[in-house]
Amino acid sequence: MIKAVKGFRDILPQEIPLWRRVEEEARNLFEAFGYSELRIPVLEKTELFKRSLGDTSDIVEKEMYTFQDKGGDSVTMRPEATASMARAYLEHALYHSDPVGKYFFFGPMFRHERPQAGRLRQFHQLDVEAFGYLSPSLDAEVICLLDTLYRRLNIRDLTTLEINSLGCRECRPRFREALLEFLDGVKEALCPDCQRRRERNPLRVLDCKEKSCQEVLQDAPDISQHLCQDCQEYQGQTLAYLDSLGVEYTINPRLVRGLDYYTRTVFELTTTHLGAQNAVAAGGRYDDLLKQIGGKDIPSIGFAVGVERTVMLLEKRRDLPQGTPFHCYLALLGGEATKEGFNLAQKLREKGIRLEMNHQPKSLKAQLRRADKIKAPLVIILGEEELAKGTLIVRNMAKGEQEERPLEDLEGLVGYIKKEVES
Ligand code: ATP
Ligand code: MG
Repeated sequence: MIKAVKGFRDILPQEIPLWRRVEEEARNLFEAFGYSELRIPVLEKTELFKRSLGDTSDIVEKEMYTFQDKGGDSVTMRPEATASMARAYLEHALYHSDPVGKYFFFGPMFRHERPQAGRLRQFHQLDVEAFGYLSPSLDAEVICLLDTLYRRLNIRDLTTLEINSLGCRECRPRFREALLEFLDGVKEALCPDCQRRRERNPLRVLDCKEKSCQEVLQDAPDISQHLCQDCQEYQGQTLAYLDSLGVEYTINPRLVRGLDYYTRTVFELTTTHLGAQNAVAAGGRYDDLLKQIGGKDIPSIGFAVGVERTVMLLEKRRDLPQGTPFHCYLALLGGEATKEGFNLAQKLREKGIRLEMNHQPKSLKAQLRRADKIKAPLVIILGEEELAKGTLIVRNMAKGEQEERPLEDLEGLVGYIKKEVES
């Protein structure tokens, strides 16, 4: 028996209603906020991720599905969407049609990490990117969009929104110096990964999940003390917009995010309800990214929502969304009735009736059991006797009542089914 690849998971029919709930709410909301859908490919040139995420990011260092294709090119299965979205935006010069480009994407991402609950090798993200503006009200709008999505899904109370500013080209280097100096003094106490990070990308040390590192870092310098005037004002205005809407957040001066491309506003939605996993969504401003991948200098901001983890939060709620129910089951008795019923099923389905029919010679009792199992509120019964009379029987399973109707009258039957199902 061949099983699925480790870390690659099937999403089974009973889980689909939750996924659809998230996807539909997100699509509606993203469109209400002015975002259009943009679909990016699974494969990109490896160089795109190396240049945007940074050589020292976890993703580039150890998590990418990278291989040589048959032509000898190094390609990578997208580990995240922002780099691809930015590439698409630049490649098609979308900034010509509108100086502000707001796009969303939903799809699978691929990272080779250790699979566990809430951590997969193929997982899904909802992704939002706004290219073209540097404005505190836009940052606040993007954060508010994330907040609204979780409120609409009724799981915002299971999460905390953390916000920080990472500074800009001017002030970040100054903070980096101060941090380096501090890390120099505590280097013996850092984990081996952080020893390496310290040399290559010291900011990332702040993101380390090792307890020992977190303890040492308690006394690390605080980025908020190093922000330039512009960055301070920018953050103040962003937060004021959020306050005006009553969005709840905490400022976490340790929040750095694992990727190189972020500048100024960064944020993360975290939870304590998913065991070892605490991040459900994250994002930030990336004013230098488009230039870094060879494009125009265009400030931008975005976020990504982890859909598996969001679905896991939804599962904590009662009143879970259910799948689309059938309207009726078509029970058929005898060869002639089956032939007639086969055609009737097609006609009813074309009229929008969700119907399942019997395909095997079975007793009426067995067929009614199946109808019950698939939770069909109505059963249409067609046997040799009804066929001879030119009728069929419609049975309301809940009421235990049934009615005989003319087989000919399709319109009447459709109307009757819809009325019975709605009542
Ligand atoms: P983590 O700290 O859990 O590794 P991350 O910082 O690598 O998360 P991001 O790159 O910010 O995650 O991706 C945004 C969201 O995508 C995360 O908040 C999370 O919900 C989800 N996500 C990331 N990696 C995985 C994974 N391997 N499996 C499932 N969801 C994931
Ligand atoms: Mg990760």
